[in-house]
Amino acid sequence: MTGLYEARFYEALADKKVLCTLCPHGCRLPNNGRGACSVRYNRDGSLYTLGYDKVVAQEVNPIEKKPSSTSSGGRTGSVMPPARTVAPRPMGSA
Ligand code: SF4
Repeated sequence: MTGLYEARFYEALADKKVLCTLCPHGCRLPNNGRGACSVRYNRDGSLYTLGYDKVVAQEVNPIEKKPSSTSSGGRTGSVMPPARTVAPRPMGSA
């Protein structure tokens, strides 16, 4: 399955349930269930993140925005902040 990465910060429980420990919600996810955030998914007792490598925000700004000074003639550029700060492990890696 493309784009599905095993998450970090979870504990496997009995009956293919998992406990996500990433945030204070502390969701207990049943098999094939999602957490309160809807981006963490329990598949057969392993937790996966559905948001890995996805753009979460995008905006168009003038290139000459302060404090930088350039001479690009009023063109605009695209700014995409990173979607994450902690890289999850790709599915199937140790
Ligand atoms: S809301 Fe999402 S990140 Fe937070 S504990 Fe639940 S599944 Fe994990």
